[in-house]
Amino acid sequence: SRKLLMIPGPIEFEPEVLQAMGAATTSHVAPNFINSFGNSLELMRKVWQSKNGQPFIIAGSGTLAMDMAAANLIEPNDNILVISTGYFGERYANICKRYGANVTILTTDVGGVVSLETIEKELSKVNYKLLTLTHVDTSTGVLVNPEPIAKLAQKYNTLSILDGVCSVAGEEIKQDEWGIDVVLTASQKAIGVPPGLALLIASKKAIEIFKNRKTPVQNYYADFTNWLPIMQAYENRTPSYFGTPPVNLIAALEVSLQQIISEGMENRFMRHKKIATAFREAMLTLGMELLPISKNYAANTLTAVYYPKRIDANAFLKHIGNNNVIVAGGLLPSHKTQYFRVGHMGCVNNNDLIATIVAIEASLIACKYKFEIGAGIKTALNILNT
Ligand code: PMP
Repeated sequence: SRKLLMIPGPIEFEPEVLQAMGAATTSHVAPNFINSFGNSLELMRKVWQSKNGQPFIIAGSGTLAMDMAAANLIEPNDNILVISTGYFGERYANICKRYGANVTILTTDVGGVVSLETIEKELSKVNYKLLTLTHVDTSTGVLVNPEPIAKLAQKYNTLSILDGVCSVAGEEIKQDEWGIDVVLTASQKAIGVPPGLALLIASKKAIEIFKNRKTPVQNYYADFTNWLPIMQAYENRTPSYFGTPPVNLIAALEVSLQQIISEGMENRFMRHKKIATAFREAMLTLGMELLPISKNYAANTLTAVYYPKRIDANAFLKHIGNNNVIVAGGLLPSHKTQYFRVGHMGCVNNNDLIATIVAIEASLIACKYKFEIGAGIKTALNILNT
């Protein structure tokens, strides 16, 4: 039977986006496709709120977007600061090491954030070329406020890379205003397109640093040298080739970005906020606990929830599935078996959220957990209808 996909990516997609995926594949230099590619690059600037940056659309997953930013900006022995709030921060540290960087990781207890004082102390101690931060770490559901960190980076003349894989088009981002040098994401989350696209916008300063490299980029596919002329050609609506672009995915991207812009960025962020608040409060009403230590840094795109004590995690997840909703297990290696994750981003609506809470309550009943049936739904309905 039909299942509702409520994991933190891939998510449910709009029918118009899926129809675009299913249309006949054209040549990558067909006029309609060139236009679609050019429009997508222009629409990205609106979604990222970056007038001045250089957008890239590349076949690959979010990890490629992380890899590309690192490959093009890092030279051997550069000092790199990774601000980690979970699994994807660790991944960024590993990527930077691959390019010969000296990596320092700042981290915190599970569910916490690194304080601005700690970050500033580190930046004032060592001359860092760049820092990375994860906007929403999908392994913990922790949301980091990028603005003050980006401002600190500017103060110390350090580039900033924001891993926005689980945030772009779901959490507020103002790339230009906040002064973030690279904001990267992937298609399958709040951008609302099936997996397969790595997306990023690099600031003028980032492109300049790349152009002034002393050593070649140590990654052939990811090298901006190959892709800059391609992105510029498509934006100028002229044919160009380096590697065959994923034609259908880019057609779908144009449709989704148009939908995002017509919803309006502020409306979209408010919708995510309301749905996330309703879900978190529903889980708390049911007596469960969240991974983020404070509601002040709980993400609006997904929620990570500890299993209630003494329930069997596998049975709990299986019963949710039997109720036709798919949620995700834990991801953080140290806590993997202790929590589950629910994605609520992109075209998620109130009905999807209520259906998810119903499935969770039904599963809790099946697991013989003691609670007031309907209490989570009542909490969520009250929030969704204010
Ligand atoms: N960063 C974050 C915050 C993510 O959530 C993910 C994917 N879950 C990635 C990076 C890696 O993206 P991908 O799986 O598309 O390679």
